[in-house]
Amino acid sequence: MSKRKLSKQQKSRIEENQRRELKEDGSEDQSAKENCNGRVVSHYGQHLDIETLDPDSPRRIIRCSQRANLPSLVTGDLVVWEEDDSGAGVILARGRRNNAFGRHDSNGVLKPAAANIDRVLVVFASEPIPHLNLIDRYLVAIENLDLQPLLILNKTDLLGTDNKAELDNILSIYEEIGYKPHRVSALSGMGIAELRAELQGLTTVLVGQSGVGKSSLLNYIGGEELMEVGGLSEARNKGTHTTTTSKLFHLANFDLIDSPGIREFNLDFVSSESVFDGFVEFAPFKGLCKFRDCAHQSEPGCALLAAVEEGKVRQCRLDSYYRILNPDE
Ligand code: GDP
Ligand code: ZN
Repeated sequence: MSKRKLSKQQKSRIEENQRRELKEDGSEDQSAKENCNGRVVSHYGQHLDIETLDPDSPRRIIRCSQRANLPSLVTGDLVVWEEDDSGAGVILARGRRNNAFGRHDSNGVLKPAAANIDRVLVVFASEPIPHLNLIDRYLVAIENLDLQPLLILNKTDLLGTDNKAELDNILSIYEEIGYKPHRVSALSGMGIAELRAELQGLTTVLVGQSGVGKSSLLNYIGGEELMEVGGLSEARNKGTHTTTTSKLFHLANFDLIDSPGIREFNLDFVSSESVFDGFVEFAPFKGLCKFRDCAHQSEPGCALLAAVEEGKVRQCRLDSYYRILNPDE
């Protein structure tokens, strides 16, 4: 049996979990929404570091414990906190989340690693040449979290006659769909100014396979302004990349969250309809197939196959869609 076909029991467990998450959010302390005076910048087991959000005084980092029965807290969460006599803080409530970014565990429960995110940088490199399917997996996951992906081709200093045409072709596929990939080099600095401009005022997360240059990009983008929040030196040390702690870095006019725990996604618990929705250029053809349960493989009257015939959808993207639905085939 393919992993995709969830049993009734699995389905109801997922639905139950989703209801519980919603309820958890809905039943929050209302005052938390208006009165948040801090933001979580890193998380260490029992303790969290928050930064103060008082507009009238400089930002400070406060080590906090949390009141019992709080909903889970992750980097990027807004909180209500207060300081005790010893200068330590205690978190009293969590503010409403605009979104939560993370992965599903083997039971289909979303494990948030960061919250209140505006952009997700999907980093890949000129060498080795990226697999389209891997990029598409990231895109499906990000689109399903209702976040905005930004594709980044790093290591463009390694472009040469042997790989340039192939990479240009890969990027053109995504340009056609409307993703506007960035070409950068964390070694030479090429394209970094344009990327920084695009991130102004936003909170961004970096994802991508190990070795594509995420840490190098973080360091280069940050440059002199990279401010130590919750132990930057630890995050810079490659030996600690197995940690799942995420950290928030303040840069000139934007924030970056580095979260080793969400560099790869598990799409097993994404429904086939959501996988379809994750291929954004398929949208105009949704619901137009002759058969309602069309698998878009060889059915007569399939609108998606017709779109491929007419050059409106790329065959390689449709192949990627099949592969996500049937990883074992
Ligand atoms: P991460 O695992 O994604 O964080 O990747 P790292 O930032 O640790 O980089 C992996 C390797 O790629 C390191 O040896 C970097 O020096 C190298 N690297 C990163 N960015 C570039 C780049 O733009 N060009 C070249 N030539 N090498 C790079
Ligand atoms: Zn179809």
